[in-house]
Amino acid sequence: MRILVVEDDPRILADVRTALVAAGYLVETESDGEEAWFLGDTEDYAAVILDLGLPGMDGLSVLKRWRANGRTMPILVLTARGSWTERVEGIDAGADDYLPKPYQMDELLARLRAILRRSGGVASPVISRGEVVLDTRQMRVTKQGVPVPLSPQEYRLVSYLMHHMDRVIGQQELAEHLQAEHYERESNAVEVLVGRVRRKLGTGFVETRRGFGYVVES
Ligand code: CA
Repeated sequence: MRILVVEDDPRILADVRTALVAAGYLVETESDGEEAWFLGDTEDYAAVILDLGLPGMDGLSVLKRWRANGRTMPILVLTARGSWTERVEGIDAGADDYLPKPYQMDELLARLRAILRRSGGVASPVISRGEVVLDTRQMRVTKQGVPVPLSPQEYRLVSYLMHHMDRVIGQQELAEHLQAEHYERESNAVEVLVGRVRRKLGTGFVETRRGFGYVVES
């Protein structure tokens, strides 16, 4: 899952990046509001963590412009402590959730997991499909109750497909959520990864729709 973190305090930004990377996400960061707006408008993110007080363009304007342009990615807004007016404005502008500063990193991670689940129409942190169970809190996949060792990329693939069950997802979209920034994108990288996941979770787990992409059916 590719997450954009927009925050102008370098210390907070570094802490959030470290925590998200440790939790298995692909992280891109931006500290300027206008640059962030451009990224969110043109790139595909599974979710955005957005601070409101930003140089360039304030976070609320960034949020409003994304929503006005039809960008629907889930957004977790970070607000100053006690600023209930900011929270109300943020939610009215289309934020999916907010977190007042200072916050515990575990709470930020839990809220991020929740908005990702909701955006995929999934209500529980544990998603199952047949004998395969994905536990997003433990970042673990089991088959018939037995943990299946997956590489970080394999885990991301399984997680993304299971968060969007029954939706056919194209190679391009998958590649964007699987590979790190500046990673050399090989044309068959997704295919190879799908092959490895099938060997571990069963050939029928991921289906290929020729010319369209891949799908995990519920
Ligand atoms: Ca700020």
